[in-house]
Amino acid sequence: MGEKTFRLYDTMTKQVKELQTKEPGHLKFYACGPTVYSYAHIGNFRSFLTADLIVRVAKAIGWKVTFVNNITDVGHMTDDDLADGQGEDKLEKALKSKEGEHFHNVWELAEHYTNAFENDWRALNLLPPDVRPKATQHVRQQILAAETLIEKGNAYETPTGVYYSVESFPEYGKLSGNTQDNLRQAVRDVVQDDNKRAPADFALWKKDDKHLMQWYSPFGWGFPGWHIECTVMAREYLGDSIDLHSGGEDNMFPHHECEIAQSESLTGQPFSGHWVHTRFLQVNGEKMSKSAGNFYTVRDLIAKGADPLAVRYGLIAGIYGKPLNFTDQGVRDAQANIERYRKADQIAKSSSGDGPDTLGPMLDDLYNQTLEALCNDLNTPVALAKALEGARTIIKEGDSITRATGDSAKRFLDGVNSLLGIVYSEYDDGFTAIQASAPNVDASLIEAKIVERAEAKASKDFARADAIRKELEELGIELRDSPTGTEWVVKSSL
Ligand code: AMP
Ligand code: ZN
Repeated sequence: MGEKTFRLYDTMTKQVKELQTKEPGHLKFYACGPTVYSYAHIGNFRSFLTADLIVRVAKAIGWKVTFVNNITDVGHMTDDDLADGQGEDKLEKALKSKEGEHFHNVWELAEHYTNAFENDWRALNLLPPDVRPKATQHVRQQILAAETLIEKGNAYETPTGVYYSVESFPEYGKLSGNTQDNLRQAVRDVVQDDNKRAPADFALWKKDDKHLMQWYSPFGWGFPGWHIECTVMAREYLGDSIDLHSGGEDNMFPHHECEIAQSESLTGQPFSGHWVHTRFLQVNGEKMSKSAGNFYTVRDLIAKGADPLAVRYGLIAGIYGKPLNFTDQGVRDAQANIERYRKADQIAKSSSGDGPDTLGPMLDDLYNQTLEALCNDLNTPVALAKALEGARTIIKEGDSITRATGDSAKRFLDGVNSLLGIVYSEYDDGFTAIQASAPNVDASLIEAKIVERAEAKASKDFARADAIRKELEELGIELRDSPTGTEWVVKSSL
């Protein structure tokens, strides 16, 4: 097994090539995590599932894996996707929105959406990362990196912040093709900061003593830019030079391009040996957007009755390098397959009686073909088809399955689960974790309960009033009484 090659498309060299580890048999992998200003949507999870499959395949071929997936809880600006650091911090903006009214402050909002993200992660059966670092817990390292980049002549300070000078890194653009000659086009629409030397220069530090999340630095009060967080966290946990970096297709430029410039200027080493980008998820053939009404979070789908493993199945059903169209029919088909696996699992467990192993060699072969398909640039359609063929074969064997065949069936299903995560949850609390997270509770229901409680109090039915408070508390909702009425907030310990 150790000799198996794992081939993946590399955005940098634009070819499918063997994934290699600098340290023999130890993959060091960084996947850009979510910005926790809202619930992650299923498109975000499509990208995280690519990373999860890579981790699973790497482990299956015998590698040790150190997998880092961060939490972006400061500094991601609304206009960051345009190559510059302008606009408003996404978390600050979220706090001012209607949903934001339920939080006392921006820290609580970040904590709430971080917990929700981790619950969704578990519900979709992604393996836990080795480290899940937060940008806000690495501000010191980001300040030091900005200082070093200034010393090295790669960055400069202005009255508004510290900016990385794109001109100082001639290789800028090597990942995305947005080289300095082409950049004029890419940054055309960006709001200009007259203090910057060139329009494409991007912020390492923003000076802002009004920002809701601010730290003191040698440049005064402010907060770090989005790109520098991944540079310092990848370096802190994985070293100067990593084996693999991944994200969604929109991360390629400017985020990953900027990460490369910063990291390689700091260390003088190539930042990552391999780059993987997942193409966007579409819903019913259209771009997923709130205004189009086709915007789904994991919890939305579960609320509609979808099995989380079926959501996972639907999201990995297409090749990551091509856009995927997610449909209700796709989830229904996936649901039927998840049930086939459950049935096969039951049959394997209920085997009894002596007799020969009739399926062993065939199932071993199907497992190998499943792994082989995944090693071939994560060809999930083929992998899922091979795995399902095995499950169908076990179901056909039915109640007459011998103990020896049952053992082979169990080994096959465990193997398929370790590769694809679709047979059973890796977490005991896989499903309940998401139900326990109150945020999905309908606001109008809470308002109705508050009215009911006020009525109970007015008629001196204090036992009923207390019971309502308790009921909401169990849903993670805290009530706050004041002379002007009762307010509700989401408990930060969710
Ligand atoms: P964000 O929370 O915006 O920082 O995004 C988290 C991750 O999800 C990033 O790697 C994005 O590139 C990725 N992503 C965002 N939208 C989609 C989508 N529709 N399909 C696939 N990946 C996405
Ligand atoms: Zn990142």
